[in-house]
Amino acid sequence: MQTYTLGKGPPEVAVVGGIHGDEPCGEAAISRLVAADPSVERGVKLIIANEMARDRGVRYVDADLNRTFDGGEGDGHEHELARILAAEVRGLTTLSIHSTRSYAHPFAIVNGVGGAAGEVVTRLPVDAVVDVANDLGGRLFELEATPLVEVECGLQGSKAAIDSAERVTRAFLAATGALVPAPEAHTVPIYQMGTPVSKPPARSYRVPVENFQQVERGETFAHADDRRFIADDPFYPVLFSADGYADIFGYVGERAGSLRPGEDGTVVAD
Ligand SMILES: [Zn+2]
Repeated sequence: MQTYTLGKGPPEVAVVGGIHGDEPCGEAAISRLVAADPSVERGVKLIIANEMARDRGVRYVDADLNRTFDGGEGDGHEHELARILAAEVRGLTTLSIHSTRSYAHPFAIVNGVGGAAGEVVTRLPVDAVVDVANDLGGRLFELEATPLVEVECGLQGSKAAIDSAERVTRAFLAATGALVPAPEAHTVPIYQMGTPVSKPPARSYRVPVENFQQVERGETFAHADDRRFIADDPFYPVLFSADGYADIFGYVGERAGSLRPGEDGTVVAD
């Protein structure tokens, strides 16, 4: 793990990149920020998390780091790293940078749209926010008293994802008062993350639908070799892709209103 700090005071906000070793945009954005060394109004901690996985060009070495924050006593590289990283960011308003195989534009993931995380989201350049709604599964969201926004910054390995990650990081630092001025708030549609959609072993997969676009009842949303998967009920695909995960296509999402700036400057969900 590599840690940098900006500013003189004790860090109050944190940015974490490289939780997954095969998602280079977070580390690249942090490196750009360290090189630019902007003057900040609050102490900032910047962390490149899983260098061993990065060096091997894999998502993880022993276990998915973003599924190991459940406080367990597990062995292996990522369980050890989870304990160290948790201690580094606990209590800090935190951005965790990711990228996907599912969607080219940035979108946020939060656990609950209220509070500091929801406020921050409306000031980020994101198309949507996905609420995991307490289905934590060992994600970094498990850390208590640590407002967290994850952002999927675009397609894994793309130059566009690096540029997006840098824009998102600067917007996050401005939204949390570390950089000035604060960005304008905007309306962001909320999707609640539902059940995972499992996929059977196959030689090839295809996903003909778009994330965050409603799939109608009876529509084919995925193929595994010659097999077609047809929606029993309408849903919004979230984190859907042919090859992003080993055993699921993605998640069933539901529209759940929008986060929008209120009249007195607060953020409301409706
Ligand atoms: Zn990731």
